[in-house]
Amino acid sequence: MKYLFTLFLLASFALQAQNFEGFYATMALHDAKELQKDVPGEVEILKEYRNEAVVYMSDNASHKLHDRVLVHGPGYIRMPSFEEAVKAVEHPKTRPDSSRMAFTISEDAAVNAAIDVVNTQNIEDHILELEGYGTRYHTMASATQAAEDLKTKWENMASSYGRTDVSVRLYNHSGTNMPSVIMTITGASIPDEFVVVGGHLDSTSNQGNNNAPGADDDASGIATITEAVRTLFETDFVPQRTIEVMAYAAEEIGLVGSGEIAADYDNNSVNVIAVAQFDMTNYNGSTNDVSLITDFTSGNLNIFMMSLMDHYNASGVHEVTYATSVCNYGCSDHASWTNRGFLSTFPFEANFGQHNSSIHTASDTFSLSGTATHATKFTKLCAEFLIEVAKSEGSLSVGDVLPNASLQVNVRQGVLTYTIEGVSETFVSMQMHDIQGKIVVNKSVTSNQGQISLPQLSSGVYVVSLTTENDKSISQKVLLK
Ligand SMILES: [Zn+2]
Repeated sequence: MKYLFTLFLLASFALQAQNFEGFYATMALHDAKELQKDVPGEVEILKEYRNEAVVYMSDNASHKLHDRVLVHGPGYIRMPSFEEAVKAVEHPKTRPDSSRMAFTISEDAAVNAAIDVVNTQNIEDHILELEGYGTRYHTMASATQAAEDLKTKWENMASSYGRTDVSVRLYNHSGTNMPSVIMTITGASIPDEFVVVGGHLDSTSNQGNNNAPGADDDASGIATITEAVRTLFETDFVPQRTIEVMAYAAEEIGLVGSGEIAADYDNNSVNVIAVAQFDMTNYNGSTNDVSLITDFTSGNLNIFMMSLMDHYNASGVHEVTYATSVCNYGCSDHASWTNRGFLSTFPFEANFGQHNSSIHTASDTFSLSGTATHATKFTKLCAEFLIEVAKSEGSLSVGDVLPNASLQVNVRQGVLTYTIEGVSETFVSMQMHDIQGKIVVNKSVTSNQGQISLPQLSSGVYVVSLTTENDKSISQKVLLK
């Protein structure tokens, strides 16, 4: 089947056809050039675009990539055709401004209830359960079995809490026989807006794919998202937006499962407002707990994740510390969503390079850490993300909000007039961001109402934020014509 598919590709794109059996992919140009030195004749660079390359490469070359460059995931993104690959690098999709939403923090009661019932033992049990398949390499029968069993596990979990708003399906792919698994919790009031959390169910090993326990990579992520959702059920949380929990197939061979799902959702205009990826959560390799990956992710969403941890995990039993790190090209499924213009974030177990070095080997077992305490922190963050994003339509602000305050803003002839009501605190600064999150105006203020002259700004949507001396803020969107 795979061979026929390749023949079809070779026939369809004769101009790009190579004289060896392989597949099309996109990857970092630098990595592609390095890889060519290792496996001459097995990597063809077909097109260069900025720092990216469209390549045709052999399976052997893709395995060598792990030895050559420091990668976590595959290090490349598999593409169904040369044309799709070119389109992906030359015309990366971006959403219209109007789809960018703001993320607020307001659900303290629901979040605190959920993170109080996160059960570390459940996470440990689930990691061991997945490790028990021996391998979840996407072509193996045990990988498909793991997907079918996970569907049953999620269905049983939902019904044990009497949830009638939950359904679970297998998502079949064209690029792999292994299905992905998707749990849907239908939103109570805005069901056509989606919040996605995911991780990959498949595993791989460079010591032979029949022994790929994949405990950290990525049984830990699947266990993390499963336990986070269980806490929502246990605390009777009803999302206003639709939540989807995804266990992706075939991440390890080039983000195949998530790539097909993100393309499908994009092509069908599914309104996914935020995606969080949990891939490797149980190896404590850095001084900080969480490393937010800043490449191929959304800056806005990363700031929101930091705000969640500042708000809910600053100290005490729920303390979580964080830093930022960069991962690599196509290092996990978040990149599939980012490539389709969706906002994604990827909290990772350690700073890149300090992560679990046993991944992609037969030694990636639970016994390495022996406890799921590190993954427990990610489970809390996942629950916080789900509750705060799925709650309802939010206003545009990030950080500590002032719930009873109101802010009126208008701009006329280059002068911004603001009025804040319903709050006694003193405001000390005003910032204006463009929709990419870049600060375009930063001024100190002395009053809860006033006027500020603006520099020349291009037309579009901006976010005006005023912050108090106690670092609380209130924001409002403003459209400049
Ligand atoms: Zn992974």
